[in-house]
Amino acid sequence: LADTRAKRKPSETRASGCEDGAVTGPSIVWFRDDLRLADNPALRAALDRGEPIIGLYILDEESPGIRPLGGAAKWWLHGSLASLGERLRERGSILVLRRGPAAEVLPQVVADVGAGAVFWNRRYGGAEREVDAALKASLRDGGGEVSSFAASLLFEPWTVQTGSGTPYSVFTPFWRACLALPAPRAPLPEPREIPGPASMPAGDELEEWDLLPTRPDWAGGLRDTWEPGEPAARARLREFLSDDLDDYDRARDEPAAGVTSGLSPRLRWGELSPHTVWHETVSARATGTRAAAAQRFLSEVGWREFAAHTLFFHPDLATQNLHREFDAFPWPQLRPAHLEAWQQGRTGVPLVDAGMRELWHTGIMHNRVRMVTASFLIKNLLIDWRHGEEWFWDTLVDADTASNPFNWQWVAGSGADAAPYFRVFNPELQAKKFDASGEYVRTWAPEYVEPGAATPAPLVDLAESRKAALEAYEQVKRAS
Ligand code: FAD
Repeated sequence: LADTRAKRKPSETRASGCEDGAVTGPSIVWFRDDLRLADNPALRAALDRGEPIIGLYILDEESPGIRPLGGAAKWWLHGSLASLGERLRERGSILVLRRGPAAEVLPQVVADVGAGAVFWNRRYGGAEREVDAALKASLRDGGGEVSSFAASLLFEPWTVQTGSGTPYSVFTPFWRACLALPAPRAPLPEPREIPGPASMPAGDELEEWDLLPTRPDWAGGLRDTWEPGEPAARARLREFLSDDLDDYDRARDEPAAGVTSGLSPRLRWGELSPHTVWHETVSARATGTRAAAAQRFLSEVGWREFAAHTLFFHPDLATQNLHREFDAFPWPQLRPAHLEAWQQGRTGVPLVDAGMRELWHTGIMHNRVRMVTASFLIKNLLIDWRHGEEWFWDTLVDADTASNPFNWQWVAGSGADAAPYFRVFNPELQAKKFDASGEYVRTWAPEYVEPGAATPAPLVDLAESRKAALEAYEQVKRAS
């Protein structure tokens, strides 16, 4: 991104009124969780405005309430920004990188380049919405044009309401209500040319942000597993629809089957829009099993919508029990050694250890195994779900402000449409059912299937710890 660090010549780009009253000056497209060119309504609106376009990404780790990215997420962001910057340059524009609180940085960039208009796609977290609303108001007060768009969700949270006008708290009626709304709009085509400014505004070098780990470099497994960026995202969607969709309904719960889409980091970072996923899936759908598989797959995308819906109406989802009676849960004093053994995949339970090692190595974990490892932490080790949520936040490449706490609360029993508190996943039975051949455990925790190999001693007895959890949950029941 060396050429984004060029000299500022504000006089060349200063916004100015023209005779018919419209403001001229370049347009800024503020990229956030939408690191793509295709189906990007903010970019499309900027193109329609007709002025030169400056892409901007702000690394904001300072605004109150904005959750600083975890390590794996930073790794992904580096790759995705490098790809986006290159793609913008190929088409004639640029990506400017700036760091700091968005409330300060964006107005600064607007002034620096004399921008006449700012475009962005909407975010749904509480702190993010506050930042965006304040910026929209202040930039407009200053005479600028600001427009925001729906791009990251198929159904924006306030458009889906129960008959009595309240948010949904159960998935099935939520999704039914979504499907009764007008179908998601068709994706916008990818622009071939994007006009850039005459001069280059000041910006950071991507490398200066130190998003990649160096001391130590723990990202080897991530590099082997992933190629961040929009082209790889599009390629995986196509491959999934042609090669894996047929088996999705049957084998999606088997971690070794490799038939799920692997699109969660793509959707998290917006390398792919849910509209593109939706429409390409609908067009790939034929009859019979494929239709059932497509429907099932889109309903999983629906869970992502439901998590965002829940975050929108409960902005403190990552820290507060959604069902407040769970505040009475008697968490015992944290045993750091148990938490650490879980993080490192040394609990003595094969499927749990395999999952936690897959996560550490690749930045991802299969959904079924996420449920099992989370249940084990909460209901066998009796460790508060928030500790697990934080570990996943730091280690997942798809770590998402909505889906991560939403699913942790789902497993804990305190969340929306949650698993009942008395449902304690038995990791041995889960392994028998979903990893019958032992292939997944063999891949990630081979010592458990190698005759005579030393294995970690079990941290807890599964049956006894389950009993202790159920007794603790009784207190929640009494409190409610
Ligand atoms: P597919 O089966 O191919 O599903 C397609 C898409 O649907 C996914 O890419 C994802 O965007 C969405 N999706 C599927 N299941 C869920 C779900 N339960 N909740 C929300 N969206 C879903 N998903 C994240 O994207 N980010 C997270 O931080 C995250 N944390 C989780 C934590 C726990 C404890 C658990 C149990 C689940 C979590 N999930 C999270 C949900 C789910 O595990 C992943 O979305 C899924 O494993 C991604 O794999 P895939 O893309 O192959 O999924």
